[in-house]
Amino acid sequence: MSIVSNTLKRIKPSPTIAVTSKAREMRAAGRDVIGLGAGEPDFDTPDNIKEAAIEAIKKGDTKYTAVDGTPALKKAIQEKFQRENNLSYNLDQISVGTGGKQVLYNAFMATINKGDEVIIPAPYWVSYPDIILLAGGKPKIIKCEEKENFKLTPKKLQKALSKKTKWIILNSPSNPTGAAYTKKEIEDLAEILKKHKKVYILSDDIYEHITYDSFNFFTIAQIPHLKDRTLTMNGVSKSYSMTGWRIGYAAGPKEIIKAMAKIQSQSTSNPTSISQAAAVEALNGTQDFIKERADSFKQRRNFVVESLNNIKGINCLNPEGAFYVFPNCKKLIGKKTKIKDDTDFVEKLLEKSEVAVVPGSAFGLQGHFRISYATSMENLEKAISRIKKFCESL
Ligand SMILES: *Cc1c(COP(=O)(O)O)cnc(C)c1O
Repeated sequence: MSIVSNTLKRIKPSPTIAVTSKAREMRAAGRDVIGLGAGEPDFDTPDNIKEAAIEAIKKGDTKYTAVDGTPALKKAIQEKFQRENNLSYNLDQISVGTGGKQVLYNAFMATINKGDEVIIPAPYWVSYPDIILLAGGKPKIIKCEEKENFKLTPKKLQKALSKKTKWIILNSPSNPTGAAYTKKEIEDLAEILKKHKKVYILSDDIYEHITYDSFNFFTIAQIPHLKDRTLTMNGVSKSYSMTGWRIGYAAGPKEIIKAMAKIQSQSTSNPTSISQAAAVEALNGTQDFIKERADSFKQRRNFVVESLNNIKGINCLNPEGAFYVFPNCKKLIGKKTKIKDDTDFVEKLLEKSEVAVVPGSAFGLQGHFRISYATSMENLEKAISRIKKFCESL
């Protein structure tokens, strides 16, 4: 009998972290690996935010805080939702956790009963299904293909809903595809959800600020009849290059927020006091660099999409946001190439050509792979030319 619990047997470690560590191992062994696996911005945290953290340490902001966030940070989040999304929340409708990931974990642990279903459109962020499984729920994976721009259609949503549906998760712009829902697309999904009054919506807006080509970000809580059953998750990790600071937040129904605090009070307690002070500055301070950074991401996206589409056997959509592309490599899989599937493709690409990417199957959609272009143009140019050579060698 193994010491590990039955609960643990239900879940798998994060596959994106697995690729990153394999690449790190190869690099440590002296190999020139280019990592396009990591899901974080390559930019540094802006100086004004770092200064706020240093100031917090000097001031003695180094003690326990309120479990689910300091009043100052909750206020900054409240103002953020008002300013950027035209959404009003009371402070008791806001929760702060140790990264968006903990916020999601709290939300599902606090609300899911055994057998409850959670609709997850695929390709999905790798942690959703496993968090649902840990909470005792049933992930209901709905595949959204390339020809649907990897987005959930009202028809598929309608079909996926059942008496057991407790939540549906929406992530726009998406990790791993970069696809983002327009206002119209969200309204069409909302129309279906209107009739299913017991279903809650988890909107993961972590890439809100990374969009291109004057795309207008819209979030489902802005639909008046859904606001009362939407929990909107966001955080400072991606927008402000603060992945290591571990601050995420959510706004939504008071009852859920209170239940989430209860979970957090018996697990981690408050997120780091110093990171919370830094997050206040992130949200209240200058937002100028956000656009500059999105512009350089856009330049990289343009390069990556165009050059991938020039590789025979690869097809790549042009995404609206985030810093990922999700190219299709189905034409390179099969008897002729001796590539078994996307995982095999990715493993051979790493082994032979020293480029680390993540297989589509890790995100619930076979025949693709994810590239994170949150790295320098120089790295991207080198990596793409290696991918091209690799594909031509098959
Ligand atoms: C990065 C990410 C998160 C949360 O990240 P944290 O660092 O835990 O705040 C949530 N959802 C998606 C889709 C992400 O890519």
